[in-house]
Amino acid sequence: MSIPFIDLAAQQKNIRPLIDEAIAKVLDSGQYIMGKPVTELEEKLAEFAGTKYALSCSSGTSALVLCLMAQHITKNDAVFVPSFTFIATAESVLLAGGTPVVVDVEPDTFNMSPADLRLAIEDAKAKGLNPKVVMPVDLFGLMAKYDEINKIAAENNMVVIADSCQSFGASQNGKRAGSMGLMTSTSFFPAKPLGCYGDGGAIFTDSDEMLELVRSFRIHGMGADRYENIRIGINGRLDTIQAAVLLVKMSVFEEELQKRQVVAARYREGIKNATHQVIGEGNFSAFAQYSFLTDKRNELQNHLKEAEIPSMIYYPIPIHRQAAYVSYCDYRKFPVSDMLSEKIISLPMHPYLDEATQDFIISKVNEVIG
Ligand SMILES: *Cc1c(COP(=O)(O)O)cnc(C)c1O
Repeated sequence: MSIPFIDLAAQQKNIRPLIDEAIAKVLDSGQYIMGKPVTELEEKLAEFAGTKYALSCSSGTSALVLCLMAQHITKNDAVFVPSFTFIATAESVLLAGGTPVVVDVEPDTFNMSPADLRLAIEDAKAKGLNPKVVMPVDLFGLMAKYDEINKIAAENNMVVIADSCQSFGASQNGKRAGSMGLMTSTSFFPAKPLGCYGDGGAIFTDSDEMLELVRSFRIHGMGADRYENIRIGINGRLDTIQAAVLLVKMSVFEEELQKRQVVAARYREGIKNATHQVIGEGNFSAFAQYSFLTDKRNELQNHLKEAEIPSMIYYPIPIHRQAAYVSYCDYRKFPVSDMLSEKIISLPMHPYLDEATQDFIISKVNEVIG
C-alpha cells in the first residue's frame, strides 16, 4: 500500500454521503454561479475568521489580484513579497500592474524577515518606487510576524495584504488568519488545509470600502447592476458546487486542524536531528505542510523514495531565481531563501496520517539523519 503525501481520499470517505447530497442539491437547483451556497459559505468563513466580511473567489491567485486591484496599484508602486513562497504571490503583483520588491525570509520561521523588509523599503525608494503594500506569506500554515510587519507598514504609510493561502485555520495571539491586515487572501486549492474539489479562494476584510471594491472587480467591475461596468474587472467568482463542497468540509475542519497538531508534534518529537520550522509562542499553525531543514536533503529524499515514502521540495527555486522574475530582484540579495531552497524537505502531512505509518516515515528519516 503506497503512502499518500496528502490523503484526500481518507477525508472523502468520511464525508462522501454529505458531499454527494450537497452536489445533488446544486444540480437540482439549476443555479451554478453564485446563489445560496455561496452566500452561506461567505457568512461562515467570515464568522470562522472573525472578520466582518468574506468574499469567495475563483482561486487564491484571483483573490490576491483582486485585493491589489482594490489598492489601484501602478508600475510605480512597490509591493513587498517574500522570496521563499509559491510563485502566485509575486505573480499577482505583476498581474495587477504593480512592481514586486522581493524580501528575504527568516531562517527559523521561514517567513518574511521584518529586518530585511526595512532594508527593502529603502532599496525600493532608492529606485524611485513608492512603497505601497506589504504582502507577507504564512508559509506552511504558520502566520508571518504581523505585529512587526503591521508596525513597519504603518510607519511607511503602507497597507498589509496577507497571503494566507496556506494558513486558513491558523491563529496568532488569538486572532485567526484573515484578520491580520487590511485584506487577506486564502486558497481552497484541494491540497490546502481547507480545500474544495477544484479551484477556489476567498478574501477577508473588515473594511466596507475594500469589500465594495473587490466585490465589483470580482464581477467585471460591475456597478449597481451586472451590466453596468464602472471598472475594469475580471471573472473571479467561486462556483456554486465548490461552495457546497466547502460548506460540508467546514463541518470537519476544526477537528482536522486539531489532528494536524498531533501529527506535527509527533514529527517534531521523532526527528531530533533537523532544524524544524519554529512555531513561536502564541502561534497555532494550520500545518499545510510539515517541513524541516537538513544538510543531507538529497540523500534523505532518495532514501525515502526507495522506501516508497513521498516527499516534496517546497520550494526548489526561490522567486529571485525564477527566470521571469530575476529582473525584479537582481539588485537585492537573498541568502536565507537560497539556503532554505537547498536544505528544505516536506514529509507526508494530513489529518488522517495514522501513527504506524508516521512511525515508519520517522524511522526512515532517522536512518539518514538520526
Ligand atoms: C496556493 C498558493 C497561492 C495560490 O492559490 P491558488 O488557489 O492555487 O491560486 C498563493 N500563494 C501561496 C503562498 C500559495 O501557497
